[in-house]
Amino acid sequence: MSSLNDALNVVQDAVTGFIGVDVATIKQAVIASGGQQAWDVITYLTNPKVLLMALIPCLIIERLRPAAPHQAHRTGGLLLDFLYPIPRILIPTAFLGLGTMLAMYIYKTYLPFLNTGLLDNKPLWVQTLGAFIVSDFMFYWSHRIRHEVRWFWYFHAIHHSQKHLNPATTHRTHPIETIISGAIRTIPIAFVGGSYPAWVLFVVLNNFWGYFIHANIRTNLGWLGNFIVSPQYHRVHHSTLEEHFDINYGERLVIWDKLFGTYCPDRQVYPPTGIPNAAWIEENSNNPVKIPLYYLKQMAYPFVRIGQSVKETGRLALARLRAPSQA
Ligand SMILES: [Zn+2]
Ligand SMILES: [Zn+2]
Repeated sequence: MSSLNDALNVVQDAVTGFIGVDVATIKQAVIASGGQQAWDVITYLTNPKVLLMALIPCLIIERLRPAAPHQAHRTGGLLLDFLYPIPRILIPTAFLGLGTMLAMYIYKTYLPFLNTGLLDNKPLWVQTLGAFIVSDFMFYWSHRIRHEVRWFWYFHAIHHSQKHLNPATTHRTHPIETIISGAIRTIPIAFVGGSYPAWVLFVVLNNFWGYFIHANIRTNLGWLGNFIVSPQYHRVHHSTLEEHFDINYGERLVIWDKLFGTYCPDRQVYPPTGIPNAAWIEENSNNPVKIPLYYLKQMAYPFVRIGQSVKETGRLALARLRAPSQA
């Protein structure tokens, strides 16, 4: 394990050197503004062993109670799901946790007037709960925007392209999408305040839940599922059936979908998942040699689509400009 850590450190140093950010400097800045506890928490919770502890129960329950019993286990898509988090692993500690701490540091240092201090000096559990609710609300809207704004959808489509949902699908996100949603999710920090440990605890525990709701597990969590997102609930969000398009955006709490009219009341359905007619971005081979090529293709996909859409908009605008003179 130590040689693995050494290897990771070497790569991390290379990455941080490349982007011009030094881990020690970030750590110092975070600790200087009261973040020692947060640094300890994030270091512990992003330890590969701890992440594995969150993943293993999901894998066991999948075998005992699968939503799609005949789902293939060894697919190219699964390999890809494991390839996606690699850029994040290479960035020091956990990208999201670190991002949250950095955002908090920037807000506190440069934009202190934004802070209403609503969560400041409250017990840690109140702050964590507050962080959970506010951030989940922001997640709902950031997720909805990623479906309803076409350019954002091109990035989010990568996440939906997995036909065989599994815990690792939670990692299948385009890096640009991770940055977009991360930025939206950390905005509440500026408004409600609270401590580093509360926000970091929330962000990391949040990641654990992602494994569970993407797992191939047949459960709607019974009465609890009326309040908390279950694997059945999120499976409907990933459905290929038209009647399920653009619903169940919530990732932790169900209340936002109920409030904003995007709730699917059918709690018994376990639909097929993926994107209909998505030949361009789907991986259709298990060949491990081809997987990196699919990965690169999926990385390029949103930019290709945005390019096409800019070209099309330009063509239409030109046609409109020319139309009156021809009349
Ligand atoms: Zn989605
Ligand atoms: Zn999902």
